[in-house]
Amino acid sequence: MKLYDNLIDVTLEELDKAQGRVFSYEKTSPWKCLENTEFIMQRDAALELGGAGLPSVNYTCVTTSGKVSQDEVVVYGKDISEISSGTAFARIVILETGDLGEDQDQEKAFQAIRNLEFVRYHVFPEGYMVRVSSQSNQEQVRIARGALKQGISFARVGAAYIAKYKELEQVKKVRVIFITEKELVEALLPNADKVDAITRTLTHILDGLPTDCGHCSMKPVCDEVEGMRELHLGKNKK
Ligand code: SF4
Repeated sequence: MKLYDNLIDVTLEELDKAQGRVFSYEKTSPWKCLENTEFIMQRDAALELGGAGLPSVNYTCVTTSGKVSQDEVVVYGKDISEISSGTAFARIVILETGDLGEDQDQEKAFQAIRNLEFVRYHVFPEGYMVRVSSQSNQEQVRIARGALKQGISFARVGAAYIAKYKELEQVKKVRVIFITEKELVEALLPNADKVDAITRTLTHILDGLPTDCGHCSMKPVCDEVEGMRELHLGKNKK
């Protein structure tokens, strides 16, 4: 799966301009998670991340190119305990997976990507209420006073996400990236739309979109994303 590789490279290039703190998953105990979403009232909240008009973004990229060599959480900007007021927020996940078999069975590969996507909506760290908007790719987080007192951190929340991803057999390595530096969040905003465009194009291809590049509204995506055109044309040869 190389469709997201360019976006991963662009993301990493941008992040290279800043200094991140790396936390190894092996040495981090995951923050406790609940079975379901928890509603935290405003009066019980200590912090809001990515709200109040501040930039916020969330996206997930899948690769099989060896771009993630270990399970880790990387934090750019202030950690939760260092934040004193509303802040910009991004959470980006890069997943190194085994071969998803898109050359043999696109439907199966796409379903695997969907399952990986699903995880992002099904991690419920205690005292950490996530509100995601799949339309705008924003993610806002409300952190409870109690969780702050108990020492919640991005490393431990990230480790909880990694633990959930690792329940899926295709997942080999996971990097969860948290960003609270406003300029960096802003620089990464356009990537989320590109991730969406890739997923949308895959959906259309699987829905039986005719292979007529000259009249196809997905052409800008195929022009930019290496492997997409081959995937569609390959599928129709079968
Ligand atoms: S290869 Fe891309 S541009 Fe061509 S028809 Fe398929 S989706 Fe459209």
